[in-house]
Parts: sequence; C-alpha cells; structure tokens
Amino acid sequence: MARPKSETLFAEALQYLPGGVNSPVRAFRAVGGHPFFAVRAEGPRVYDLDGNDYIDYVCTWGPAILGHAPAVVVEAIQDAATRGASFGIPNPDEVEMARLICDWVPSVGKVRMTNSGTEATMSAIRLARGYTGRDRLIKFTGCYHGHVDSLLVKAGSGALTLGAPDSAGVPAALAGLTSTLPFNDLEAVRATLEEYRGEVAAIILEPIPANAGLILPEPGYLEGLRKLCDEHQTVLIFDEVMTGFRLGQGGVQVRLGVTPDLSCFGKVIGGGLPVGALGGKEEIMDCLAPLGPVYQAGTLSGNPLAMAAGLAQLRALAAGGVFVRLEELGEMLREGLEEILRRRQAEMCLHQVGSMFCLFSCPGPVRNLEEAMRADRDAFARVFHRMLEAGVYLAPSQFETGFISAAHTEAEIEATLRAFDEALAADG
Ligand code: PLP
Repeated sequence: MARPKSETLFAEALQYLPGGVNSPVRAFRAVGGHPFFAVRAEGPRVYDLDGNDYIDYVCTWGPAILGHAPAVVVEAIQDAATRGASFGIPNPDEVEMARLICDWVPSVGKVRMTNSGTEATMSAIRLARGYTGRDRLIKFTGCYHGHVDSLLVKAGSGALTLGAPDSAGVPAALAGLTSTLPFNDLEAVRATLEEYRGEVAAIILEPIPANAGLILPEPGYLEGLRKLCDEHQTVLIFDEVMTGFRLGQGGVQVRLGVTPDLSCFGKVIGGGLPVGALGGKEEIMDCLAPLGPVYQAGTLSGNPLAMAAGLAQLRALAAGGVFVRLEELGEMLREGLEEILRRRQAEMCLHQVGSMFCLFSCPGPVRNLEEAMRADRDAFARVFHRMLEAGVYLAPSQFETGFISAAHTEAEIEATLRAFDEALAADG
C-alpha cells in the first residue's frame, strides 16, 4: 500500500512538531515506519491522504464507540456550534451530562467536567489528598492515567511504548510520594498500606488495565482493594477513562460489582471532542471549589460543543441495544482470533473483554506489566505491518488495546480475521 503523500507530509511534520506528532504513540516508533495522515473517518474506517482506507481498531483511542462521524453526533455538534462554541457561563447540557453520568454510574453522586482524561485524574488525586489530608498515593505498574506528574511513574501506554515509563521532568520529591506496585498482587498493597499507615490518600487504578496491553483483574482482586481502602480510610479511585461507558453503561465498576469512591471518565463521554470528568461520593466531591478548599477549574470545562457531542453519543448508546451488539462483535472477533492462534500454533495470546481486545506476542495469560514485558515486540511489529498492508489498522504498539465500534459489522470482522490468518502465515 503506497503512502507517498503521507511520507512527504510526515517529513514536513518532523520540522515543526517534536517527533512529527502531538501525542507520542502516534509516531509508530514501537513498530517502525512512519504514520499515515488521516483525512476522513466514517463508520469503522479511516481514510488516508493517499486514498487508502483501513478498518480501524484504534477508534480514536476509544471515543468512537459508535464508529466515526455518526450522524447523531455530527448533527448535535453542528446544531450546538450555531448557538456558540463556548460561553464560560453555565449551560443546560452540563447539568444533563452530569445527571446522566450519575444515573448510569451508581457510585457517582456529583460530577465535575474537565477537558481531558489527564485533567480528570490530576484533579481526582488532588481531591483525594485534600479530602484525606494525606499526601501519598498507590498506583500500579503499567496503569496509565494521563501525563500527570505524580502518576507518570512506571506508567503504561505511550510512556511504556517508548521505553520511558518514568518521565524526565517529574520532580523526584513528587514521584517519591507515589508507590508503584504490581497489578493483581493484593499482598503488595496490604504491605504498603501498613508501611505507610495513615499516609496514603488514594489508590488509583484502571480496574481493567488497558495501557499495558489489556490485563484482567483476578477474581477477588478489586474487592480486596475495596476492603483495604475501607480499613485504611484511603480513597479508591477507578480510572475508567478507557472503560467507562464502553464496557456497559456503568463501566467496570457495575460490570464487576465493585464500588470506588471516585471515578474518572473521558473518551466515550465526549463523542470525539476533548472531554474528561471526575465524579464520586458527594461528601468527597463537595470538597471541590467553590464549595470546598480543593481548587479545580477550566475555561472550557463543560464546553457546549463537547457536552452536545457527548450527550448525543451517550443517548444513542442507551437507546439502541448498542452494548449487546458490541459484546457480540467482541465475541465474534475473539472466537475467530483464538481459532487462528490454535490452528497456527502461534506464540500469542488474546485478552478480550466486550469490545476491547489485545493480542500479546507471548504465551498467556498476562497478569501484570512484568508479564506483559515478555511479549516479543518485533513479532508484534511484523503482524502490525502485515495487517496495515491488508487494510486493517491496529494500535501501533504491543502495549495498547484494540477497540471495536458499533459500526463494525460481521464483514469487517471476517476481513480482519482473514488478514490476521495471512499475517501469521507470512510470519512462518
Ligand atoms: N486514563 C486512562 C486509563 C487512559 O487510557 C488515558 C488516555 O489514554 C488517560 C487517563 C488520559 O486521558 P487523555 O489522553 O484524555 O488526557
């Protein structure tokens, strides 16, 4: 598949943007080669500058749950834009968005909208610190919570992909307040809470980590964290920026029946526009300014375009049995991929939940980041490029998760399975 126009533009981009991109993983460094430039996206497909098109399993890193440019979202944005792109004054859709989140996620009594997932997690940890009067945090290796200083310690996603899970520029004093533990190891959490008794403000995690590949919590693990947080009066924060409103209306917490104190959201709730949110128990949320002493603000927070897009997407999700469809498509992809892996006796394993999936280039199951690091990244890169040449766009890193949208059909899944079978065959 020739991409001369993308190649030329990427060379120019390198002159003006660090690494040619505005977010590191887009640069294809983990798989080699250069990224293509998208000029349009519709339904399950993205179209590049050279006129090629791809079945898209990145789905703009999660938000495009209905597929790209769904009519309901496009119309909502157009309609809102004619009434003004930003007011900086309360608008009715902010209240509607908050009400909807509270209705769908029982642990959430109040909501604060932000402009990104990063802002949501940044604000959530400040809130937990302000509420408890404690400074320390516990997070888990491979969990990525955006590029927040205190959380960019052994993080996943792009940071991990580039081999720099600890970022330069994060003050050691701040990083020193974050204990980073292996996922799925309750004893490590228990020991750390004992060691720092009375000092840990919050435990923050992706309840289903999706930034070190896709990792599933073992039975009892999330419940165990809940219990430990109760024992130590530590705030339990679920970062559901990826999983919220994707793995069912209530996210992982409802799906697996574990209740956090605070939750962070983003991606799907913005319908493709820049949005994040944090929400949780009223007692904690009311510590936010203007009611309480924890400062948090945003010129564009609750932006009318973003609220309109997000509400249109969420209403479509609620109305149309979309989650059932996404589960079906996820199952279909899983069954097909597993059959191919068995038949080809491939040294790979598949993790899948609902419309999220990850192919690890190593035997499974993978329980934590340390095990994910066993994956053969060169093997993944070869499969990635063969799939891309066949018109299937997977995330350009072993440590990312794939997303299926409701616009994908059986035909796209079948084409994907054929491409995967051929990619493995070519790999020998
Ligand atoms: N939390 C999780 C679980 C994420 O996956 C991400 C981004 O991928 C973030 C937070 C940060 O969100 P954003 O990129 O909108 O700042």
